[in-house]
Amino acid sequence: MRYISTRGQAPALSFEEVVLTGMASDGGLYVPETVPRLSHDDLAEMAGLSYAEIAFRVMKPYINGEIDDATFREIVRDAYASFSHDAVVPLNQLDANHFLLELFHGPTLAFKDVALQLLGRLLDHFLEKRNERAVIMGATSGDTGSAAIEGCRHCDNLDIFILHPYQRVSEVQRRQMTTVLADNVFNVAIEGNFDDAQAMVKASFADQSFLKGARLVAVNSINWARIMAQIVYYVASAVALGAPQRSVSFCVPSANFGNLFAGYMAYRMGLPVERFVIATNANDILHRTLVDNDFSKRELVATLTPSMDIVVSSNFERLLFEAYERDGDAVRDLMDRFQAEPAVLAEAPLSRLREMFASHRVDDATILEVIREAHHRTQEVLDPHTATGYRAAERERGDPGVPMITLATAHPAKFAEAVVKAGFPGVPLPPHMDDLLEREERYTVLPAELSAVQQFMAENRR
Ligand SMILES: *Cc1c(COP(=O)(O)O)cnc(C)c1O
Repeated sequence: MRYISTRGQAPALSFEEVVLTGMASDGGLYVPETVPRLSHDDLAEMAGLSYAEIAFRVMKPYINGEIDDATFREIVRDAYASFSHDAVVPLNQLDANHFLLELFHGPTLAFKDVALQLLGRLLDHFLEKRNERAVIMGATSGDTGSAAIEGCRHCDNLDIFILHPYQRVSEVQRRQMTTVLADNVFNVAIEGNFDDAQAMVKASFADQSFLKGARLVAVNSINWARIMAQIVYYVASAVALGAPQRSVSFCVPSANFGNLFAGYMAYRMGLPVERFVIATNANDILHRTLVDNDFSKRELVATLTPSMDIVVSSNFERLLFEAYERDGDAVRDLMDRFQAEPAVLAEAPLSRLREMFASHRVDDATILEVIREAHHRTQEVLDPHTATGYRAAERERGDPGVPMITLATAHPAKFAEAVVKAGFPGVPLPPHMDDLLEREERYTVLPAELSAVQQFMAENRR
């Protein structure tokens, strides 16, 4: 299997190349050239298997024989051994047919661990094989940076530089990054805001000469391997609830759309899914596009769900590519218009999307209400991101015979501000992290100047 760009003009790549490459050279995103199928029997045989074994079977066709089975099994097993729950992503039944899929039992307490624990190990494997080293660079306002650091801390062939805005990240989120004292981990606090940090990352990818030949790798959600790893928990949870004999629906708190696109891939592979429900916060480009055909950028709004605060949903382009029946020229044209001005989708692709997707926007006041209400009804304290999903799922409950699975994307201890605002005394960190606030931190404060950051990276990379 090869990987092709959503804009149709970049060279097709192997799996190894696509893992080491971020965005396609034509500005598009890589997707598999064909969608591998899971047959009825393939799914039926997964009942009762471990998460790691299901992961191996779901991802194997995407790896394309580029890693031998024994090695890939080992990589997968090792990645998911870092989770604190034996089921890796347990289902928690809230009522007769509403379930929470708890994706927050990884090292940094948010769902991004599921993909990044695997991606770090895949990168390390390929680099080792090529006898190369690489530098990871990313900007974060929270979740992605810590998950990337945890995913790469044990990787001999990688150095990772994560930029965060100085004094503008919550203490828990900062400490999840800065208390990782591994030799290959470099936390840089930029005297500026998140956009400054992001702009420096973009500029560095555009001109990598400051690294004198070292490869720069992106671990943001445009990396195909992150999507691939996330397909697995859709399959595993549906099988646990009776697939392939029974269909399920999924509700997903969404921002860059990587998580939900993985669910769509599971559906395309043959998983019986009735419906996908998109939950957004006030940054509602996905909701506006689907409901009003208003595909346009709006000013960023800061909400109680910071990990969903986005202007553009980068992975939505992958879904558009499918909705436009894989017409790369049409996608390129649409994305060019979208960059310049408010755009609209053509009628046929939009109605294809509406057949499978519903969406709901959930504001901050409602999030607080939901946290209280869900606790009253189920005894669960939801994190605010998960709360948006809970509300969207409740609004969209269709056939009572079809289980609704809401993805719980973060542990509530990670977003204590919203939980406290909702009237709870706060949620303790899980046992393996309860000394987080006492651990030694290490980070470097730098001015918001590209040359200062690049010089620091050039001097410190190993
Ligand atoms: C990243 C994140 C999201 C959004 O996921 P996307 O894949 O960008 O749609 C939602 N909730 C939490 C807690 C996150 O960290």
